[in-house]
Amino acid sequence: MENNNSEHQRYVFGKEWLRVFILACLLFATSLAFLPHLVASAPPVSPAVLAGFFIYALFTIAAGYKHPYFGYISLDRAGQMLCLLTLGSFHAAWISGLSYFFISWLRLFRGVPLRNTINAVLINSGMMTLMMILGGYWYLWWGGDIPMTDISFGALMRVLSTLVVMQIFNQLIMYLMVYLRGGRPEKTAVLNGALIEIIVGLVGMTLALVYNRQDMPLFLLVLVVVSIGMLVMKQYASIRLHLEALVQERTHALRNQAQRDPLTGISNRGHTDEFIAGQIAHAQQTGAHLSIALLDIDHFKHINDRYLHATGDKVLQHIAGLLTSHCRSGDLVGRYGGEEFLVCFPLLDLEGARLASEKLRRLVEQEDWDRMAPGLAVTISLGVAEWQPGMRTEDLVKEADRKLYEAKSAGRNRVCH
Ligand code: GH3
Ligand code: MG
Ligand code: MG
Repeated sequence: MENNNSEHQRYVFGKEWLRVFILACLLFATSLAFLPHLVASAPPVSPAVLAGFFIYALFTIAAGYKHPYFGYISLDRAGQMLCLLTLGSFHAAWISGLSYFFISWLRLFRGVPLRNTINAVLINSGMMTLMMILGGYWYLWWGGDIPMTDISFGALMRVLSTLVVMQIFNQLIMYLMVYLRGGRPEKTAVLNGALIEIIVGLVGMTLALVYNRQDMPLFLLVLVVVSIGMLVMKQYASIRLHLEALVQERTHALRNQAQRDPLTGISNRGHTDEFIAGQIAHAQQTGAHLSIALLDIDHFKHINDRYLHATGDKVLQHIAGLLTSHCRSGDLVGRYGGEEFLVCFPLLDLEGARLASEKLRRLVEQEDWDRMAPGLAVTISLGVAEWQPGMRTEDLVKEADRKLYEAKSAGRNRVCH
């Protein structure tokens, strides 16, 4: 498992970056210091075989993918265990380290800043080299064979315990890095990740057993089948992720559409009522003020009759725009009926809502409607009400409607409260 947290989290700079950089340098330098001690015990291997193992290591890293339920599926252990159980810890260590060294630079193409990429390159290659050195020591200490040719209960336990030790080391470094970056690791992701790494490690062991039988055609066949299996799973997971993202996006768009009035694009009556209900619940809990204004265009029927329905529609759209752009961001403007709008003012008392409503009334009155149609003039009447404990949404709207009726009766183009 590589250090690819940086893609999910923010990129760290400054002090946190420096701390991670120091860890990265330490890991890298330690891995380089340890490697020469293992050269003597390394078997001679032809460059073609080494190149093959190196390419396979690159492949297993690149074949890793994000899974919708298991987090990140990392397949690097297959290449690492194949290498360890056939060529021994020296070759496994440098091949693993060098493959991560190359692959980690690809972050630059995904837009990761250079300084964060450098940290990833040093940490990943240093950590993987050291992990393979440690795994090799552990495996040999328990009497493991290299190359591994037989499977027995004892041999399986040696491999399993090696995988566990490697995973613990891998995880400790990752914890340390997350800690230095100032974050918190997710426990469930860690357990799932460990389980997958161990299973993949056993796949690597199986490949090693076949390789060590010296039956090249059989080995290549198994390798190809396993690799195709990995790629198919990766493809399947990526389709699944893509579909899930699409469903989420469409659901979001549909929900949004269901809440909007098609003509003006602002909240429809249903969503406006929902919003008020939410604000009432909040006011009930906190004792905060809450007011609304119900607003009706004066003599709109006359506007429709004189300037045609299309102009009437334009007036509705323009008023929706005026109201939303002149309300505060916490307010909600909804189209409540044909030519009626409702403005919800969270935290405002009756006087505050009256002042805000008066501002809106003046805004509409002073708008240059003549530009839309010669001779056109538009005014609005507003009824304002403040929520009182015990009132439901419909009670509050009814109260505002009563005040609106008063404003209409009193001659229109005014605010009543
Ligand atoms: P008042 O000042 O008393 O509110 O008079 P009014 O003419 O505005 O009120 P009335 O309720 O008599 O008329 C409302 C009009 O609004 C009637 C209806 O045709 C029009 N209307 C409702 N919805 C729309 C719409 O979506 N587009 C257009 N252009 N007109 C609409
Ligand atoms: Mg009207
Ligand atoms: Mg009306």
